[in-house]
Amino acid sequence: MVKSPEVEHPKKATGWAARDTSGLLSPFNFSRRATGEKDVTFKVLYCGICHSDLHMAKNDWGMSTYPLVPGHEIVGVVTEVGSEVQRFKVGDKVGVGCMVGACHSCNNCANDLENYCPKMILTYGAKYYDGTTTYGGYSDIMVADEHFVVRIPENLPLDAGAPLLCAGITVYSPLKFYGLDKPGMQVGVVGLGGLGHVAVKFAKAMGVKVTVISTSPNKKKEALEHLGADSFLVSKDQDQIQAAQGTLDGIIDTVSAVHPILPLIGLLKSHGKLVMVGAPEKPLELPVFPLLMGRKIVGGSCIGGMKETQEMVDFAAKHNITADIEVIPIDYVNTAMERLAKADVRYRFVIDVGNSLKSSS
Ligand SMILES: [Zn+2]
Ligand SMILES: [Zn+2]
Repeated sequence: MVKSPEVEHPKKATGWAARDTSGLLSPFNFSRRATGEKDVTFKVLYCGICHSDLHMAKNDWGMSTYPLVPGHEIVGVVTEVGSEVQRFKVGDKVGVGCMVGACHSCNNCANDLENYCPKMILTYGAKYYDGTTTYGGYSDIMVADEHFVVRIPENLPLDAGAPLLCAGITVYSPLKFYGLDKPGMQVGVVGLGGLGHVAVKFAKAMGVKVTVISTSPNKKKEALEHLGADSFLVSKDQDQIQAAQGTLDGIIDTVSAVHPILPLIGLLKSHGKLVMVGAPEKPLELPVFPLLMGRKIVGGSCIGGMKETQEMVDFAAKHNITADIEVIPIDYVNTAMERLAKADVRYRFVIDVGNSLKSSS
């Protein structure tokens, strides 16, 4: 017989879960496994609200199971470690991002690319090795295999650092992989939301010249003065786009709505790379002719491996990169989701789990 979420494991846990495709979240009691030999257990202090949480809560991608406890930008303080855990001790500041398991034997895993492992296990809404459902960080405690736990450096604030675990690695990894991290390069960032604003910060710290490309002209001041971008293009302004043709070495496109990519391809130099990190629900139109003229590349990227995630967090700490956040109590989460759907946040909501979620234990 399948046990209920509340008793399937020995550790009592509580969180907020979506119950159906309305996506509305409400308090939910469940349980977590006992700390295994290689496990790290931590008290969750903050959890970022990623756009995926909204999609998953509403089953927009057709893969959600309920009850669903979202959250994959999870940070907190270690309360217990297993006997074989080597990198962490009680009291350490740690984080868990988008994944909590992988096969550890495929080619991707062997190359520190657990994020591309066919058996990668998502932090929430997936089946763990033992067959039980994974629950995310909108909850009081977290248990994860040491391999999927990231050390949070001392000087990185936990609240504003939390979004790095998904948003940060999502943009850091393609900047590195596609070679768009060289000082003096010209890189565009499309969309100034949760992903885009950290992309600007990472690229600037790498010494890259950043052009923010946005549909809304009123983000110009913010992009240039607050985030430190070097220039700004309004994507619907034909004259501006025309004048910037062939100027960019690469573009990180963070937009998750369907949008035309022809103007973006036009902005690239020869051998320029357009990298998609947003996930539009419908296919985009790919104009091929402009790709041929200049050997241009359209690519994709999805988070990053654990080794690179640690590297990213360490880089962020060194360069004082954090997300711009609005901290909220857990009982504001449904309103936050509504506002997120309207892009009404600068730029990431972070739930103050530690101070607002009444713990079960
Ligand atoms: Zn995410
Ligand atoms: Zn694997």
